[in-house]
Amino acid sequence: MPSFSNLCVYCGSRIGERPAYLEAAKTLGRELRAREIGLVYGGASVGLMVACADEVLKGGGNVIGVIPRALVDREIAHPSLTELVVVETMHERKAEMMRRADGFIALPGGMGTLEELFEVLTWAQIGLHQKPIGVLNVDGYYDGLLGWLSHAEREGFVPKEFERLFFTSTNAKELVDRMSAYNAVGIDIGWTKPKS
Ligand code: AMP
Repeated sequence: MPSFSNLCVYCGSRIGERPAYLEAAKTLGRELRAREIGLVYGGASVGLMVACADEVLKGGGNVIGVIPRALVDREIAHPSLTELVVVETMHERKAEMMRRADGFIALPGGMGTLEELFEVLTWAQIGLHQKPIGVLNVDGYYDGLLGWLSHAEREGFVPKEFERLFFTSTNAKELVDRMSAYNAVGIDIGWTKPKS
């Protein structure tokens, strides 16, 4: 039995410049399919998103796409998902993806991917969900972001224990293994009031 029913994958609506990004999206899709874990994603037929979704579908796996109506109208929706949930706004879309998934993985991506990743991280930080979060650091793509988080920690804007909020790995199998073994832990947010 898989320990997750569904994992949500955030990733680029473009494929990026390096073949390794596309390969990682496909590998993650195969990994989910092999473990009988359903995919929840943005429902699009473009970029790394479709590459990951198609690998899950190929083996008869379940893929739920959650897409705003405006993008369906632009014919970007994937035509053959297990389920396509059409919502009205981008906000509803993220909430629905979050509700339906037991955990979240970010593959390489752009602003949309980061927005989604940071929303689940922020919500985990203040204890609004206890679902595991993974960052698949393909070819060092997220090194700069991880470096920035360490900088923000040193500068006192990110909690000391921020590394406990998510897993990072360069390997999809290892990442899903570690996320499966996750026991939710609260972190000390370390809020202080300035002295008046
Ligand atoms: P980006 O990283 O900017 O390419 O945005 C990708 C992320 O934002 C994905 O994880 C999606 O959930 C969402 N997204 C961006 N573009 C689309 C699209 N055309 N259709 C559906 N979702 C999208």
